[in-house]
Amino acid sequence: MTDPAGGPAAGYPVVLDLAGRRVVVVGGGAVALRRTRGLLAAGASVHVVAPEVHPELAGLPVRVHRRRYAPGDLAGAWLAHACTDSAEVNAAVAADAGADRIVCVRADDASGGTARTPAVARSGAVTVAVDSAGDPRRSVAVRDAVAALLDRGLLSSRPHRAPAGGPGPPGRVWLVGGGPGDPELITVRGRRLLAEADVVVVDRLAPRALLDTLGPGVEVVDAGKAPHRSNLTQEQINAVLVDRARRGLRVVRLKGGDPFVFGRGGEELAACVAAGVPAEVVPGVSSAMAGPAAAGIPVTHRGVAADFAVVSGHLDPSRPGSTVDWQSLATGPATLVLLMALERLDAVCAELIKRGRPGTTPTAVVCRATWSDQRVVLGTLATIAERAAAAGLRPPAVVVIGEVVRLAGPAFGPDSVAGPVGER
Ligand code: SAH
Repeated sequence: MTDPAGGPAAGYPVVLDLAGRRVVVVGGGAVALRRTRGLLAAGASVHVVAPEVHPELAGLPVRVHRRRYAPGDLAGAWLAHACTDSAEVNAAVAADAGADRIVCVRADDASGGTARTPAVARSGAVTVAVDSAGDPRRSVAVRDAVAALLDRGLLSSRPHRAPAGGPGPPGRVWLVGGGPGDPELITVRGRRLLAEADVVVVDRLAPRALLDTLGPGVEVVDAGKAPHRSNLTQEQINAVLVDRARRGLRVVRLKGGDPFVFGRGGEELAACVAAGVPAEVVPGVSSAMAGPAAAGIPVTHRGVAADFAVVSGHLDPSRPGSTVDWQSLATGPATLVLLMALERLDAVCAELIKRGRPGTTPTAVVCRATWSDQRVVLGTLATIAERAAAAGLRPPAVVVIGEVVRLAGPAFGPDSVAGPVGER
């Protein structure tokens, strides 16, 4: 593949549809393995010809012909990859392919075949393929740069909207877990979907710093501003999701933590399904996990705790009608993680002590976990409510109860304290 001047030609990019089509890979090493993985991902029917085959390659759903390459091996192929460690064999493959007008990629000498493979990145439905006329390192560098921008949502692949009334792509809702608050703790997929969104419906505890990165044309619907007080009722939120999606828009419902952990994500998903609107859930890092982690508390620890429970402390445990089984929790899982419990911490701790948890059980409150103003208060089940109140802690906070709380600290650096002592 050379241009008339002798250098590699700029080339003509195409995307091949190889689904069900025969591709012959000559060679059985690491390059052949890499090529084969890409070919299988494209649905190709891959034949590998090599006397020795990398065990991982042999384990893939391909036809392996364990012998040296011979003329005729390319019969019926749409594409050939010459990736043996012998320039001679690769040249023979390329020559045979050329004679039969089979497109051929030569691994050892890009200009020796009729095609070359670009550096590829995928981000959702978008494929980025970069070629730099025979300078693979440059292709990889550009590919990596573009992929990083797409993944971080710094380069939007959001297509321009179809003109009003025109036939646009169908709308869709993504229930995206935004993580506990630090904008870096959203998933790569969540970040990308946010960058591609036409509409963002956001919760109070979602990583709102990410809203600053949205383009000017993006509609932001604020679903909640104050604790326990939403701007919109759940029904109104559901209606916004369905309405915008029906208008053909890409809707991201940006929620705090994980959408399905005390997030009413299940109701939103059900509303979309009932309205016939395609919807997808993107899991998030729940504060139930991130809270303890940010305080250096492992929720399980070899020899200390082999199980943990995540519980809502939203309702007064001493009142009838609570769906939480406080009796089982008092004597059950080694570690308890309570969400929405700060305002009723006194009652919750009293209930657990009354039902059998020792008042000496180490307990921590992690307030605004992963935010820049995170605070941690340590105590025991008997003292924590008073300590948290004295420290003036406000929600959001997670409460961690159990012997693992003794391990708190390393996340805060060298002057961490072992054992339940006041605030740090
Ligand atoms: N879906 C969320 C939870 C929603 S319920 C998740 O998976 O994290 C709201 C409760 O989550 C708050 O009352 C608090 O207990 C907890 N929470 C959310 N973000 C928090 C944070 N950054 N730090 C501490 N607790 C948090």
